[in-house]
Amino acid sequence: MLKQLNFLQFPAMASFRGFRLALTACVVCVLAVDAKYMVYNTSGGVVPGKLNVHLVPHSHDDVGWLKTIDQYYVGSNNSIQVACVQNVLDSLIPALLADKNRKFIFAEQAFFQRWWRDQSEAMKNTVKMLVNSGQLEFINGGMCMHDEATTHYIDMIDQTTLGHRFLKEDFNVTPRIGWQIDPFGHSAVQAYLLGAEVGFDSLFFARIDYQDRAKRSSDKTLEVIWQGSKSRGSSSQIFTGAFYAGNYEPPTGFYFEIDSDSPVVQDDMDLFDYNVQERVDAFVAAAISQANVTRSNHIMWTMGTDFKYQYSHTWFRNMDKLIHYVNQDGRVNALYSTPSIYTDAKYDLHESWPLKTEDYFPYSDRENSYWTGYFTSRPALKGYVRMMSGYYLAARQLELFKGRNESGPTTDSLADALAIVQHHDAVTGTEKQHVAHDYAKRLSIGYKESEEVVATALGCMTQASTSECKSLVTNFKQCPLLNISYCPPTEVDLSLGKKLVVLVYNPMGWKRTEIVRIPVVNENVNVRDAAGQLILSQLIPIVNASIANTKSYASAYLGKSSNVNPKYWLAFTAVVPPLGFSSYTISSDKLGASVMSKQLLYTFEWSQTSPIEIGSGSLKLVHSGINGKLMQYINSRSLVNISVEQSYGYFTGYDRSVDFQASGAYVFRPNGSFPELSEEKVPLTVFRGPLFDEVHQMINSWIYQITRVYKEKEHAEFEFVVGPIPTDDGFGKEVVTRIKSKIGNNKIFYTDSNGRDFLERIRDHRTDWDLQVNQPIAGNYYPINLGAYIKDENSELSVLVDRSVGGSSIADGELEIMLHRRLLYDDSRGVAEALNETVCVKEKCLGLTIQGKYYVRIDPLGEGSKWRRSFGQEIYSPFILAFSEQDDEWTNFPTPTFSAMDPSYSLPNNVAIITLQELENGNVLFRLAHLYEVGEHKDFSVMATVDLKGVFAKKKINKVKEMSLSANQEREEMEKKRLSWKVEGSNTNQGTVPRGGPVDPVKLVVELSPMEIRTFIIELN
Ligand SMILES: [Zn+2]
Repeated sequence: MLKQLNFLQFPAMASFRGFRLALTACVVCVLAVDAKYMVYNTSGGVVPGKLNVHLVPHSHDDVGWLKTIDQYYVGSNNSIQVACVQNVLDSLIPALLADKNRKFIFAEQAFFQRWWRDQSEAMKNTVKMLVNSGQLEFINGGMCMHDEATTHYIDMIDQTTLGHRFLKEDFNVTPRIGWQIDPFGHSAVQAYLLGAEVGFDSLFFARIDYQDRAKRSSDKTLEVIWQGSKSRGSSSQIFTGAFYAGNYEPPTGFYFEIDSDSPVVQDDMDLFDYNVQERVDAFVAAAISQANVTRSNHIMWTMGTDFKYQYSHTWFRNMDKLIHYVNQDGRVNALYSTPSIYTDAKYDLHESWPLKTEDYFPYSDRENSYWTGYFTSRPALKGYVRMMSGYYLAARQLELFKGRNESGPTTDSLADALAIVQHHDAVTGTEKQHVAHDYAKRLSIGYKESEEVVATALGCMTQASTSECKSLVTNFKQCPLLNISYCPPTEVDLSLGKKLVVLVYNPMGWKRTEIVRIPVVNENVNVRDAAGQLILSQLIPIVNASIANTKSYASAYLGKSSNVNPKYWLAFTAVVPPLGFSSYTISSDKLGASVMSKQLLYTFEWSQTSPIEIGSGSLKLVHSGINGKLMQYINSRSLVNISVEQSYGYFTGYDRSVDFQASGAYVFRPNGSFPELSEEKVPLTVFRGPLFDEVHQMINSWIYQITRVYKEKEHAEFEFVVGPIPTDDGFGKEVVTRIKSKIGNNKIFYTDSNGRDFLERIRDHRTDWDLQVNQPIAGNYYPINLGAYIKDENSELSVLVDRSVGGSSIADGELEIMLHRRLLYDDSRGVAEALNETVCVKEKCLGLTIQGKYYVRIDPLGEGSKWRRSFGQEIYSPFILAFSEQDDEWTNFPTPTFSAMDPSYSLPNNVAIITLQELENGNVLFRLAHLYEVGEHKDFSVMATVDLKGVFAKKKINKVKEMSLSANQEREEMEKKRLSWKVEGSNTNQGTVPRGGPVDPVKLVVELSPMEIRTFIIELN
């Protein structure tokens, strides 16, 4: 994504033709001049004592933005953007072969792999030679240059692993440098996990806040040692450079694409417009101005930008000449370089560098232009990505348990789709509409194939023996649209004697007890567990608003909607072992039938004043008897009793009537305040039952809310349906939900970094510079992937989310998250479309409706982290439900419950399995993550241990190899190679950060210290 729009200037065609005539007439005179083949001296490396200008040739190739990834690759749809990555790679190879000093870096593996698949053996060998010689360097090395605000750390790791493993296998290389040049702000997790822990020696990017950049330029701190995690401390710090001009382009006047208007270097004295001295002077001047804000005598020029080098020769021809003549001039030294060479040059100086902690959010490129809208843009796509991410984690486990089938189906296509959609113009919501559709289509295709893997695995695992699973006895179906109560497999009429079997799979390493909800058509149903025991279940009528929503969205997504209408949600408690499943049977029977929820309507039309209390366990929520609004949160166990309000409201998006800066896909620019969106009195419908209570409220004509309190849980669940957002008043709107309490958080709140570490945020304040506040709302928004919280000396209020959103604490006691955005103007950052998502059913298009959940809990101070971490992980990894219809005679599966783990073993509460996957060679990729930071919880912020024999109970472990985070090299080898940088003002010994020790091959126990992630390749027998 290009930061600013370049207005291409084409030469006037008439005069161009005139030249051609003159040229033809002059062929004879050209021939008359002596032949003068020119050899340019491009061999210069680093010259000590001189200012070294590292020219880094690169092309920034977005894995989808204005065009889809495939359109960018083949170069179609050029009326939108002239861009063809195939041209870049095709023209690059001969250009590199023409001079062994020329260099190029390539980042996006999704493009490279497309190209690589089509090359001949001879070309592949040539490319390998160029890689081995260092002329072509793979940088970053993930499938895409992932976003850093709206991505979950597990997705970031997965997409990087996919790219890195390909490079290891096909080239035997491990990328050394992080290259996040375009993402719109930079996360702590990128620095310490996707930077240091993958073995990178440095990290480079362009975009930091304009005020931050001004400050860093003035005190020469654009280059720093970044320590992204308090818990991992100095063990995971990385040398980081923010580019001088805030973009990743060459200095003005040094663009050499065929259609660029920069002056080419014309060094033929026999031709007109000879300009060598002028070009050398401009080069030296640009170098000196950059050197003035950079420490040391090395500066980097990023020679390229979006989709450049489609005809590589023009760039290299001009750079050859610049290097030759600039070095002849001698004032500065120019060289072909790469970020690796640049990094080594900086390292070799043995200097100390300033320390940077926390992150680089939010990003603003000028006054009133905070890029905090994209934290929420396209919430449906963001929700889909998160849902697929959790599903992929579970599907890989099941694929391993059954045994990977190379001839397919596999989870590989979902892996690929998920990797691509982490791109910084994909999950961010900043792509054109047709490209957003392309990403969703890829996810859907990947899901379909993985769904088969899951169904087959579960089918096999319920049979007597998994080893000989040739034909499936049971055909399991799943319901990806269960969230909108569309699930044909459960809509069986059970009154005729059929039974519905529900298999509930738990992808986590500890046992879970949770409520499962499925839509059913019958009223007199009951639920039995695998032992045949009746278990408590509850029926809740499906409300009309929900049925209408289901019908319209099912036909929008599927082109059809079910002709059966489910009438109830059936809910029951599923108890599921770690990495395993439990099965439940639903049948019709008047005796022992599910408990029908008691329904009560409160309309507030008469003088009802007594409060309405819901929740039959420890937690009670109290709604006002006067207006229906939430007013009190009471937990009888933890003794929290606190006033709390919850509301919806919206910001009106800036239009372009004042200046060019509208609120749009990237930028959040609210115009005015936050009118609350509800009537004075909001009627309540309350459903009470033995498992949970629900409050249904029609907040206004386009917001519906269900508040749920489970008997056995201590958090409130808010399910919202928002949309279509009306725009007939001519204004775009950004819808926010806000929780208000009396908690005195004194401007301080906490938001997560990519679902991992929580960072402290202070309203209207930045740690690194004196913030000039221009946008008191947008400038205080931060990305949220897991949750946010505030606290005072007594209590803490936490909100957890089901997808990536933006949020803040705009006033003390408050937390807010933005749920949906619908805007009418483009925000001038290149996408050239307003973020106005619609859904069409039979030619009729309406604004997109978003359905989702967020969760709220208030704890005594110090007790909130356990819920945020454990339940947060459960939100990411929901149960997988699979259904099968059975006839009357059916009793049970040969294997009705299963756990891959030892029945007496469970992972400790502070550790999650984030990868469990069979690789192509049959080995297992296994990742464990400690879920707590240092000091976060009194019992859980400690060294944890995982017994591998307990996890892999059904197999024998032959060998365990610890790897780097992206599994492309052994950890030990990575640690030996990594550069160790000096931080200004600290001793070389910055104290050791605890790490889990080596894994003893006999004991097979893995230790993890707070926030540590460990990656293993395990050879099983
Ligand atoms: Zn980009």
